[in-house]
This record gives sequence, C-alpha cells and structure tokens, in this order.
Amino acid sequence: MSPSALARAPQKTHASGERTVVVYRVPTHDRRDAQKLISAGYDLIERRQGDDLFVMGGPSTASGLRRLGFSPTAVETMHKPLAHQPRAARTGGGVDDTYDGGYHTVDAHYAHLDQVAAQHPDMAKVVTYGKSWLKQNGRGGRDLKAICITKMKQGDCQLNPQAPKPRFFLMSQIHARELTTGEVSWRWIDTLTNDYGKDPDITALMDSTEMWVVPITNPDGVDIVAQGGDNPILQRKNADDSKGGSCDVNGQVGVDLNRNAGTHWGGEGTSTEPCSEIYLGPAADSEPENTALEGLFRQLYPAVRTGTGDSDPAPVTAKGLMISLHSDASMVLLPWEADHTIHTGNDAALRALAGRLGSLTGYQSGQAGEILYDASGGTDDWTYDKLGLASLTIEIGDSDGRNCSGFTPAFSCQDSYFWPKMKPALLYAAKQAAAPYRTTAKNH
Ligand SMILES: [Zn+2]
Repeated sequence: MSPSALARAPQKTHASGERTVVVYRVPTHDRRDAQKLISAGYDLIERRQGDDLFVMGGPSTASGLRRLGFSPTAVETMHKPLAHQPRAARTGGGVDDTYDGGYHTVDAHYAHLDQVAAQHPDMAKVVTYGKSWLKQNGRGGRDLKAICITKMKQGDCQLNPQAPKPRFFLMSQIHARELTTGEVSWRWIDTLTNDYGKDPDITALMDSTEMWVVPITNPDGVDIVAQGGDNPILQRKNADDSKGGSCDVNGQVGVDLNRNAGTHWGGEGTSTEPCSEIYLGPAADSEPENTALEGLFRQLYPAVRTGTGDSDPAPVTAKGLMISLHSDASMVLLPWEADHTIHTGNDAALRALAGRLGSLTGYQSGQAGEILYDASGGTDDWTYDKLGLASLTIEIGDSDGRNCSGFTPAFSCQDSYFWPKMKPALLYAAKQAAAPYRTTAKNH
C-alpha cells in the first residue's frame, strides 16, 4: 500500500458508545461449517445464499474467520450505537411514536392494540399475558400483550383451548432487531379489522376464525433497538443481564428467546456463552417472555400429539396454526428446526403448508437444517412438540432484490414491498387453521 493510500485508509476509530458492524459473506464447503461458526461464537445471521453463510461482527472479525479457514468478504459496513443500560426507553407516545423513518416503538404497538380494540369492540380484544424480564425484576420493562381478532360471537376470544372457532396465531419480533416482522403484524391487524364487511375474503375469515397476534414478543429487546433512534441498536435477545452485563463490542447481553424454549434445548445452533447472540439461557424456559407465551399457547390450544416421541403425530383432525415471523433469510421453515435428520409425524402436511407459503412468497421452504442451519429451542418446535400445533417460521426477506434486505430496511419497503408479499401468505395460512394437517401437496 502506498503512503497516500495508507493516509486514505479508513481510520478504526471507536468513538465511545459506537460499534462498527460488518456483515461478511462466508463461503462454506461442509454442512458442519455452520455449527463450526456458531461454536466459535460468531453471529450467524438468518441468511444463506447457496453455500454462503453470513456473519455479523466487527472489523476484526475477518481475521478470526480466516484463522478458522474461511475466506470472508465484507458486504456491508454500518456504524451502530452500543446499548446503554438495558432499560425501557419509554417515550410515552401514542400510535405515531416511531423511530428510524417510521418503525413503531413498543409504546406505539401497545397503543395500536388498544386503539383497534376501542374502535372495534365487536372484533378485537387485548389480552395481557405476562411480564418481560425487566418488569419481572422491577427494573422498568413491559407487560406482554396479545390481541384476539374475530367477528365476536359467544365464546370467542376466551382463554380456553376448546374454542368454537379455529385459531391462527401470528407472532413477531421475538428477535427484537428484525424490524420488518412487527410491521407485518401491524398491517395484518389493520387489514383484518378495517376490511371486515368490505373484502369478502376477510369477512369470511373473520366470521369463521380467531386471529391472535403478538406483535412484540420481546418488548425489552425492542426498547433497546429503539434507543438508537434513526440508527437502531441491533439487539436480538431480551434484556436479561443476570449472567453477564458487560459484553462490549463483541456481543450483547440477553438470552436468545428463540433458543431458550424447552424443546430439544441445548442442541444444535446454540451457545452457552452469555454474550453470544444465540445464548440459550441458564435453563430451558428460564425467561419470563417464553414461559408467559407458552402459558398463553396452552390456554389457546389443546395438547393433541399422540405421544412425546419425535415422530408421534398430531391427528389429522387437529385445528390451529401458528407462525413466528423472523427476518431476513427469505425462507419458510418447518419443525423440527432443531435437527433436520429427524422428521415430525406430520411432516408431509407441514412440508406442503410450507411449500404453499413458499410459492406465495417466492421463498424456499424446508426444515431449518435443510436450507439454513439447525437451531434448537425455538418457538415453533415448542408449539409443535408440546401441543401438536401446526407451526412454521417465515423468514421475511428481500428475495427479489428490491433494496429491502437486512434487519432495518428503509421504512418505505414495508408498504411498497413486504406487506403486498406477505398479505396473501397470511390469508392463506389463516384459512388453513381449520384443518392444517389435511394440507397435501395437491389440494391447495
Ligand atoms: Zn430471527
């Protein structure tokens, strides 16, 4: 490098409170490479292109990857603030309280739920189902909130697994930094309540089915994200700092709620390092966000699997469907997400459902380990394992090259690109809640 080039080289300044974030493309040659990266502590983000995986880290991450035998190339560099004390950043705003160009804060989401229920008492009911980790520990934090949406009749929206109508459950932002997912839930709630009596498809769905939505599954995490304002903090996990509160630039505090559920806990795709992005927590279901959510699931769905073995099926007559939204791999994933070498007892139907949602979105579909990487202790594995509930993950992504990729795409992508793509998929999924296991590769 010539002296003048050296002078122009970007300085590695670490202004206090800021972190240089680099996304690396990492070609792999062996399917065990994903686990190798995870075991070495790298933040393997939810993205894959062919045999290329993607790691998020800092400027020094490349040399570490090379020492492991990989050949990373930097594809994106960002300057992101570090989280301050993990605390609830209450802004006190209403439905218009936003950050980063329009993304809704937790306050806005919760105000939105209350507003929808107040405007449509015949169609919506808000349920508080628990407390976040910070609230549980008396450090601020949040209630955990769900909304039930249907054209109300006697017995609807009750916390009773024997409900008159089948139930479609949608959840988002269990990984706080996956901002698109909460915005999709917001639009789903508005579409259902605004278009009843106008759109025949929505009207029929609202008359026949209960739609449950948890827009912000991890509110403490989303509060940290929103602290960054127009430069969101990329917090993925919750705010539980009991196993280590100082992770500096090399990681984040918190437990990965999508690795903490009590199903195949501690398996592939998890880390026991508290600062790792995939830290599984000190015990299965250690986190209040998960125990509360699982309690809600148990109040909404009967346990119908015929046994507890990995291949024991739910009966073909079972009702109900659950989708957890993530970003941004452009994939539809089905259980078992923990281990792609084992299949559920409802594999054909779940695969057909995922395939249909894949064709509606243009996304790939399969078990996580077949197309992304194995990941244990996730929500959809738990709901299928413990309840026999038909469960899927949709990794919302920019599969069409619309400049809408990443965790924090331009807010305009939400209305122009993601919602038009996701609406038909959610409508299809909600309709299948009546008999998800009757889905075959042909009958759609
Ligand atoms: Zn995620």
